[in-house]
Amino acid sequence: MFEPAVIGIDLGTCNTLIYVAGKGIIIREPSVVAVEKWTNKVIAVGTDAKKMLFKTPDSIHTIQPLRGGVIADLETTEKMLRHFISKAIPRYKLVKPRMVMGIPSAITEVERRAVEECGYKAGAREVVVIPESLAAAIGAEIAINEPIGHMICDIGGGTAEISVISLGGMVVSNAIRTAGDDFDEAIIKYARNELNLIIGGVAAERLKMEIGNAFPENKIEKAQIKGTDSMSGLPKCLEIDSEQIRQALKVPVLKIVEEIKSILGKTPPELAADIVERGIVMTGGGSLLKGLSNLISQETGVPAILAPNPIECVALGAGNYLNSTKGIENTRYVYESLNK
Ligand code: ADP
Ligand code: MG
Repeated sequence: MFEPAVIGIDLGTCNTLIYVAGKGIIIREPSVVAVEKWTNKVIAVGTDAKKMLFKTPDSIHTIQPLRGGVIADLETTEKMLRHFISKAIPRYKLVKPRMVMGIPSAITEVERRAVEECGYKAGAREVVVIPESLAAAIGAEIAINEPIGHMICDIGGGTAEISVISLGGMVVSNAIRTAGDDFDEAIIKYARNELNLIIGGVAAERLKMEIGNAFPENKIEKAQIKGTDSMSGLPKCLEIDSEQIRQALKVPVLKIVEEIKSILGKTPPELAADIVERGIVMTGGGSLLKGLSNLISQETGVPAILAPNPIECVALGAGNYLNSTKGIENTRYVYESLNK
């Protein structure tokens, strides 16, 4: 008999990742599905579907089935997950896998059940859901079961979740709906208001990754910004520099910094002392914004450290969860402690 595969899944608003125990991260693709409007037939999933985003004719419809870390469209999420799982483990229908899924800790009971249901419908033998921050911590190689306080700051596309963990449980945690996608929005707004240029989300994200930053640097970088002139309605290309982008990103970046300060303020002193010593661990794609960890260190006085593979931490940690803790018993404990 084959042993059932254990897979860790990060069903993120922007990206879905699947980690297969013993093999590594097999899937890392955008959480996007393209369907034919009239028949509801899936045309493309993941990377191929993202390329079609905002560029489809009337007959095709691109769907981002998750919003703010929760499932907004159950049927499409299930189709997407099934597609990714079949790619990750081709024999999954013969020997159904055990799935561990990271979910936002602020999720409601109904939303949590939707994730579980999705896992079972997509072909799981067993679904275990764990708080995303806990998964991120395991993925960042933090020994979560010790009586030591650790702070994890996971910045995704739609939400930033900041949690303090000790003894395998969450002590303080909060999620705000300000994250990577709001950085893109802020760049779009800046271009419209300051440069009279209308740009799309794809261009804004590209600028953020290329020259975006949160902390002043000696070298000023420049890039081209292309869009539509809001006066003439004609295509236009301008130059923009990293100082301007930092200005544009100020509001959402400071919102995240303020939330970190607020969580530090709510952390019991013994655990706060551990965090000062060990630093704030940053995970999620949004944490890759240049200079963000420097800014957080400066503003809080606590060193902020980027995890080795920030985008992969949740999937990695979910996949290793059953090995690193007492497993399912512990999950129950985590949820009880969260619902107190
Ligand atoms: P989610 O968990 O919501 O699916 P991810 O952790 O995958 O999100 O992070 C997605 C976010 O990270 C997006 O907003 C994306 O633009 C941003 N991101 C990815 N790489 C970078 C980078 N190099 N610099 C800045 N932002 C980045
Ligand atoms: Mg995430």
